[in-house]
Amino acid sequence: MSYVIRFIKNLRSKPHERLTGSLSIPEINEATNVLIKLVQAEAFKEDIMHIQKTKYVSHNSKLASLNPFLDQTGILRVGGRLRNSLYAYTKKHPAVLPSKSHFTNLIIDYEHKRLLHAGGQAVLGSIRDVFWPLNGRRLVRQRIRKCLTCFRANPVQSNPIMGELPITRITPVRPFTITGVDYAGPFLIKDALSTFPEEDICSVNPARLSNYKQLQQIVQHFWCRWSKEYVNNLQQRTKWKQQTANELKPGLMVLLREDNVPPLKWLLGRIVKTYPDSDGTVRVVDIKTRNGMITRAFSKICVLPIDIG
Ligand SMILES: [Zn+2]
Repeated sequence: MSYVIRFIKNLRSKPHERLTGSLSIPEINEATNVLIKLVQAEAFKEDIMHIQKTKYVSHNSKLASLNPFLDQTGILRVGGRLRNSLYAYTKKHPAVLPSKSHFTNLIIDYEHKRLLHAGGQAVLGSIRDVFWPLNGRRLVRQRIRKCLTCFRANPVQSNPIMGELPITRITPVRPFTITGVDYAGPFLIKDALSTFPEEDICSVNPARLSNYKQLQQIVQHFWCRWSKEYVNNLQQRTKWKQQTANELKPGLMVLLREDNVPPLKWLLGRIVKTYPDSDGTVRVVDIKTRNGMITRAFSKICVLPIDIG
């Protein structure tokens, strides 16, 4: 922008008065002011017109609480309540910036980097010495959440919705029909898989039953109570209740979580293939990394906050 302004000025001046070389501070400040005015003219058109007419902003404007005014150069500034303080002019009357503007985003990103990736409050405090972005707190937090450097230093794991219970956990079978044994050796269970299904004897008087049948009755009672009183508790998803925004899909850039290694050293990769399960949720993906293809579960992945369109 500074070079554009210099070019226009040079066209209008005599050859020996033309400016060349690196930009001076007044030139950069002038360019900043031009940009502020352009952004404000687009976002606060009606408010500026209202101020030009009546000196005040309309009482139902979103700027009303800031008591804004136009300075001599035409920049919309916060009137505020610090008029009698000894602070610099720009701190007393920072220039108002809209919340949805590329220019505002750039200012925030620049300030965040200049302050060596400081947190929201520090960044906003520093910006407000010169600018007053509307919805500043939320906006700054949003921008910082998109900062890759900060994310890599403190990655967030993406959790798909909590899974359905596997069939083996909610179907009545004899003990040890399904086992998950990590360390013991295999052992033989004598079970007649082809026996007839047992009759329902829950409501039969135990006195009329043989020892074996009484045992069966206890088992059946247990199953009844388990189905009635406990299984309902499993319906609820106690955590990971909703599909997060970072749904795993091909094209996303991810970090591969590794134990005993600091996050900044985690491997970077791109999801190339997903494996949705029966309810359509992706929990396992293939990731292309510099060390080749790796298959990983969601718990070992952190999705980087980059929009892939
Ligand atoms: Zn950062």
